[in-house]
Amino acid sequence: MKEDDVLLREAAEEGALVGPPGMGELHSTGTSASANGFGFSSVLETEGMKADPTDVRINNRIAIFNILFPHGALSRAQVSRRIGLSRASVSEVVASMIDEHILTENGRSTESVPGRRGKRGTQIEIDTNYWNIISLDLSQEFVIQGVVSNLAGQILARAEISIASPKDVDVDIVVELCRKVISKAPGKIFGIGIAVPGVVDSTGTVIDSRNLDWNNVPLASIIQETFNLPCTVDNDANCALLAERFFGDGEPNLIFIQISMGIGAGVLINGSIVSGTNNAAGEIGHTIIDDDDTPCVCGKHGCLEASLCVPALRARFGDLSAGDTDGRSDILRDAGEKLGKALSMSVSLLDVTDIAIYGPADIVNDTLIDRASEVVNERTMSVVQPRPVRVRRCEFGDNIVMQGETTCVLQHVLRAI
Ligand SMILES: [Zn+2]
Repeated sequence: MKEDDVLLREAAEEGALVGPPGMGELHSTGTSASANGFGFSSVLETEGMKADPTDVRINNRIAIFNILFPHGALSRAQVSRRIGLSRASVSEVVASMIDEHILTENGRSTESVPGRRGKRGTQIEIDTNYWNIISLDLSQEFVIQGVVSNLAGQILARAEISIASPKDVDVDIVVELCRKVISKAPGKIFGIGIAVPGVVDSTGTVIDSRNLDWNNVPLASIIQETFNLPCTVDNDANCALLAERFFGDGEPNLIFIQISMGIGAGVLINGSIVSGTNNAAGEIGHTIIDDDDTPCVCGKHGCLEASLCVPALRARFGDLSAGDTDGRSDILRDAGEKLGKALSMSVSLLDVTDIAIYGPADIVNDTLIDRASEVVNERTMSVVQPRPVRVRRCEFGDNIVMQGETTCVLQHVLRAI
């Protein structure tokens, strides 16, 4: 701790902890992705509405950032055409974002188009050399992890702290991990994001996390005050959903299921995360699917989580005799069937055709996926559903939650500065 304190103080003295321009004007201490309802494709949703000039400025900045994120390179004229903003406005916004080291000119020019007049334009892209983002993941069973990323989401460094149980995670250990990760950042810190398994409100307060045993913990404000940096706290499944959408194979209409200590889900509709009345959209784990008697930690019987979470399935594997592969397959087919039943109504209700399932390979494998796919498609195929619903394993590695959290930090800070 002491060594980290020294590193932190040194970093602060060198200016590494000074937040992005305009940080002092932050009004909100944290914003969950779900509460924002943001989507990279929905940034112009205020078009046509009466918006104050600040909203217009923020929307233009985010629209330009999003069209370049993570690895795009376009001329100002191309940006102007793609987002329908005048050349003059694009040039003005880009100039300010270059001054803030959010965008940069890459020294290359766009190809001239035969038959089209006009000089070739210099390409702009995300500046990956100046700002760093700190992303933490509190959703693992025996470790809490953090990474340093650049503005394109590329991971530059990582740190972790081992824990005996998720219930050992408290605010002090999260602050300690933040310090560790910040000390490894080569650039200035753009913002901090923390992914939490549970319900998070629009201020970054963790309303309820059964895994961590937290209730009403104002994590975003604590971290923001401790480090004098913008902080966003978000649901872990929503973070993973965003990673699958923007760094993986996800479609704009996507249901993401995370099978881990519990069952989490995130829903993306037309590029925007669905949040719901209580920021709890996707909390499907404690929905009763079958009339079975499996007791659940919530007090009910037959919840999806009680029979489908990793500890429950592994406990059933443990009851089998050694080498009983048929028994194992039966358990996984049963789990796939339950999941398929649980998802069918949502698929029809929302017209979603892409379902990504994330979890350990001994559970989320072809046996479970194939049965879930059969059940979903048997129950939902119709004339208005011309192609089968794609039910697939999410192939992302262990960094999925942290990479998704990086996109939450970007949206949070770009809206705040
Ligand atoms: Zn339950």
